[in-house]
Amino acid sequence: MDVVVRTGGCLCGAVRYSVRGEPAHVRRCHCANCRKESGSAFTVYAIWPLEAFEMSGDISSFDGRGFCPRCGSRLLDTSEPGDTHIEIRIGTLDDAPFDLKPEDEIWVKRRESWILPVEGAAQYNEKAPRDTRSYDASPGPDCSGRSE
Ligand SMILES: [Zn+2]
Ligand SMILES: [Zn+2]
Repeated sequence: MDVVVRTGGCLCGAVRYSVRGEPAHVRRCHCANCRKESGSAFTVYAIWPLEAFEMSGDISSFDGRGFCPRCGSRLLDTSEPGDTHIEIRIGTLDDAPFDLKPEDEIWVKRRESWILPVEGAAQYNEKAPRDTRSYDASPGPDCSGRSE
């Protein structure tokens, strides 16, 4: 069986990565932090096992949020010791559309009135219940309590 490999990178091309296999989870987040970091109304990210991920180039980070120091593209959340998975902003995948669909949406109380819910996706007014993050040892910097 062929395992799908997806490639992605930043806008300027200094950072390139690949992910092997399907993600463990796909999520759309409307939290205040995701709005700020992306400059958009929400982010869409997916989580892959660390061993499925490869990267070339250097990234900088702010508060655990990794970006290309040259062009500023937001790419992924930098992993901490003990993390088993990595969270990637899937707008940086080369394929557009990326054909991955969010399984849930969080911080929907911050969702713009003109953005429709993703059909079939679980809806959480604030952060997701703890059990949906059981694939990750640490809660990560994203979308946590201070994202009011
Ligand atoms: Zn770049
Ligand atoms: Zn968020």
